[in-house]
This record gives sequence, C-alpha cells and structure tokens, in this order.
Amino acid sequence: MSDPITIGAPIRLVSGVTRCHRCGHGFSAVAIVAKVTEDGQADTALLSYVTDLPGELLFLITARFPSYGLEFSQTAEHVYYANTCPACGALAGDHFLRSPDGVFFPMDDEAVAALSVETLPIEGPLTVKAHCGGGSWLSVLEERTAEA
Ligand SMILES: [Zn+2]
Repeated sequence: MSDPITIGAPIRLVSGVTRCHRCGHGFSAVAIVAKVTEDGQADTALLSYVTDLPGELLFLITARFPSYGLEFSQTAEHVYYANTCPACGALAGDHFLRSPDGVFFPMDDEAVAALSVETLPIEGPLTVKAHCGGGSWLSVLEERTAEA
C-alpha cells in the first residue's frame, strides 16, 4: 500500500498516448508529476499507485481525463487511481504504463517530446497517498516546461 506524502507546486499532469492491451484503442493516459517534500527536501517525482487524492486535485484530473478513477488492479492486488480504456474499460495499470517503453517510461528524447504537460492551477501543499518514482526524463521534461 502507498504512504502519505506531501506534494506541492508545480503540480503537473503528464499525458501521452497509449494503446489498450485488450482492444487496441489509442487513448491519452495521465500521471501526476509534482514536487515531493521529504525530510525537508523537495524533488520532482512521478506519482504511481495513487490510493488517496484530495478532491480538488481529483476534480482537475477527471475534468480532463474522465476515464481516470479508482480501479482494482489484479497485478497490484489493490485499488488505486488508474487510467482505463475509454472504449472497453480495460485497466491500463501503472505497472504497464511505467514499464520500459511504456508511455511513462520514455526511452529517448523523442518519446519525452511526445508527452503533453499541463501545470495545474493549485499550489499545495497537498497530502496524497502514492509511490514516488523518478527518472532522468523528468528533468528533461522540467527543462522543457521551464522554457515554455
Ligand atoms: Zn480497450
């Protein structure tokens, strides 16, 4: 299960096109990237296996990605906020999206460039329950949004 963590601005939604493993439908999957404060240090992290989200943050996400919601994962064996296929409802689990070459594990600059980023109009700090992950592509993404 995921632990409570504190996130703050910039709180961003990263999205990219993935393909449903069941029906082949292409759709945009979303993930949260935010500054996570731990032991007084703030680092940019990609959240996964989110089990608890403040309502205001969930509202902003589902307004943009209506098929994001609480789902039971056979792989993770618990319920968490996940992407589902808008066509057939199949779960596009965090494990799948974050595997090498998955939409949230871009292997080259081109794959990073294909991701969309939106900074949300909330500052935090907010408490969520999630796992934090990183990756060098997050700093590439940060540089790009800093330039924009
Ligand atoms: Zn599908």
